[in-house]
Amino acid sequence: MQVHDSLVSLIGDTPLVRLRNVTEGLSGQVIAKVEYLNPGGSVKDRIAVKMIDAAETSGALRPGGVIVEPTSGNTGVGLALVAQERGYRCVFVVPDKVASDKVNVLRAYGAEVVVCPTAVAPDHPDSYYSVSDRLAAEIPGAWKPDQYANPGNPASHYESTGPEIWAQTDGRVTHFVAGIGTGGTISGAGRYLKEISDGRVQVVGADPEGSVYSGGSGRPYLVEGVGEDIWPDTYDRKVCDEIIAVSDKDSFAMTRRLAREEGLLVGGSCGMAVVAALRVAEKAGPDAVIVVLLPDGGRGYLSKIFNDDWMRDYGFLSATSDEATVGDVL
Ligand code: PMP
Repeated sequence: MQVHDSLVSLIGDTPLVRLRNVTEGLSGQVIAKVEYLNPGGSVKDRIAVKMIDAAETSGALRPGGVIVEPTSGNTGVGLALVAQERGYRCVFVVPDKVASDKVNVLRAYGAEVVVCPTAVAPDHPDSYYSVSDRLAAEIPGAWKPDQYANPGNPASHYESTGPEIWAQTDGRVTHFVAGIGTGGTISGAGRYLKEISDGRVQVVGADPEGSVYSGGSGRPYLVEGVGEDIWPDTYDRKVCDEIIAVSDKDSFAMTRRLAREEGLLVGGSCGMAVVAALRVAEKAGPDAVIVVLLPDGGRGYLSKIFNDDWMRDYGFLSATSDEATVGDVL
């Protein structure tokens, strides 16, 4: 029988899919690495299993232990999935800008979720960084993976994401484009691709306008999971050849186009990364093989990016836009 005993063994080995419509008029190939096909629905499954394996080996996480982590949702799902299989409890701390659908998903996996304000400084006692530190210190048997500092985060991408992209493109990849949150994806996969290609592969980071990676001050933006107001240890500042800043408006417009024109129902950071990849393709020649990583699926954003009222409230969709539907006109 073809049966998997463990969901965790299905993490990784996600497919590459060519973008065929949003690329109209561009000569090079733009290829998506579709990470929502991981069992927990995002790229973060990869780091979850790697960080937990390492903590078990080092003794930081013991049988019956509690995993405490500040997470925007996807890392939480990955951790909850592995924790469930191995008998750990999970307590997650999330900022209040995270869609309620995502929080409900974490609770559905059996995790406890604490919601904190987004609009406070990282060192404020109510910030999601501070609250998670406090809980990790107070709860007996707690272990904090700390995806912003855990070397297992970039290492998982160095060991899995990068080699997969190299093998799947038969070594023909010329550019790797990914959004930067903790920086784990771009630092790990980017470093691998640089090393294996003797520096030939160009590594391009995509960043929300206002975030520190593209020279901002941490000004608020609405795209979730990417951009920072601090510089995490997991981000290798040497790995990116270029960083492209993308507005929320452009990110969300592309996210909607990916669903309608490519059949890819994905999250806002995917739209952001694709905008950056298309900007790379505009400059690169016809031989370019641009791989863009799409971190998660779109179902967690139905009440935001895929909701016309929400988009209009923020000025991301005008009443006269070509996305207006029959219902708008009647
Ligand atoms: N997009 C989404 C939706 C994410 O959750 C994350 C992880 N924070 C990223 C992109 C960025 O990945 P990384 O943390 O590896 O930089």
